[in-house]
Amino acid sequence: MLQAKLNNGKLITLFEFSKQEIEVLRSDHVFFCPVCKGKVIIKSGSKIIPHFAHQNRKNCQTHEGGEGVYHEQGKIMLYQWLIKQGLDVALEQYISSIKQRCDIFLRVGKKKIALEYQCARIPINEIQKRTGSYLSVGIQPIWILGATNLKRTTKHSFKVDQFLLQFLHQFQDQSFPVLYFFDPHSKLFTIIGNVFQIGKRRMIGNFIIKKLDSMIFLDMFKTSVDSRELFLTEWRKAKYQYRMYQPKKLYGTELSWYNWLYYKGTHREFLPSIIYLPISSQYKMLTSLGDWQSRICLEFIDPIPIGAVFSLNSCHFQFRKSISTDSFPLVQPSADPIMEYLHLLAALGIIEQVSEHEFRKSKNLHHYSHIEDALKGDEELLKELLNIFETKYEHDS
Ligand SMILES: [Zn+2]
Repeated sequence: MLQAKLNNGKLITLFEFSKQEIEVLRSDHVFFCPVCKGKVIIKSGSKIIPHFAHQNRKNCQTHEGGEGVYHEQGKIMLYQWLIKQGLDVALEQYISSIKQRCDIFLRVGKKKIALEYQCARIPINEIQKRTGSYLSVGIQPIWILGATNLKRTTKHSFKVDQFLLQFLHQFQDQSFPVLYFFDPHSKLFTIIGNVFQIGKRRMIGNFIIKKLDSMIFLDMFKTSVDSRELFLTEWRKAKYQYRMYQPKKLYGTELSWYNWLYYKGTHREFLPSIIYLPISSQYKMLTSLGDWQSRICLEFIDPIPIGAVFSLNSCHFQFRKSISTDSFPLVQPSADPIMEYLHLLAALGIIEQVSEHEFRKSKNLHHYSHIEDALKGDEELLKELLNIFETKYEHDS
């Protein structure tokens, strides 16, 4: 930990002192843990950030460091960055009601926020537990990841796994999830906004990268940027790959999907363009975008005549085993991939929402018989999608 108390209760933040001053402190004072009041000692050296460590940790509920210099540096920089903005900030605040200590605690107006700077890969249930505890006492947690966790693959895409998905934030006034990263070496803060999962291990999004000094805290929530490029490059590419993909070997869920398509008398090359659309809450689905969307189209919409109605509940029932039971406590609980897809189809004029839970078919699905037509159709649809998303952004921002 970076802070300890003196005999008189005064809080000492070690990194604010020079090497010589620290040596003086070490010889003149005894230090105590702010949480358990146990004795702590100064640890310093050329390769570590000066910090305090318990003499006897057994009786203390706080976790002690263990994340290394990278983490400590980042935490200090973020703390100093918030202090400079005149915000009400506390380092390593212990919240006794939940027995948890957060990296940085801040108050903005009536809002209480716990900032966690997370570099090490910790178990998913630990992230959920900590996030849940903060929320249970009215504190909004915000997790900023160490940039070493970011594996960027192209201008707009990056690798994703279950660990990273846990840190998707979605605040009330935002409709798209966002991820945060910070690198203390380059002092670069990365916000990835408008993220969409397009494959099992791939996400796309808009990268906003800023020097920490050139941004303020509230900039973290300004993520609505032009999505045109994201859609025109990454989404177009993803859709093309999806359309043209030729698996060498089929097994598992993919094999059963191919069998199902065969049974339906079609092939992926000829599927309607409205299958495989970007869904921001895809991370909640256990099957791929194309898999469940084709089932909605070919099971629920295709067989019924124009004007006929189907229900959201019947879709939910069909996919009851395909929706993750994992909780994603940082996103809006109402985020529903199936509803999101149906709303998108409604915006495209394929169906029309007639009540909270019912949709009416307005148009027949267009199946292709030539791959060239399908590719052309995908391009046309991309333009329509772009318009829909741009209108959505205008409403949001
Ligand atoms: Zn302690």
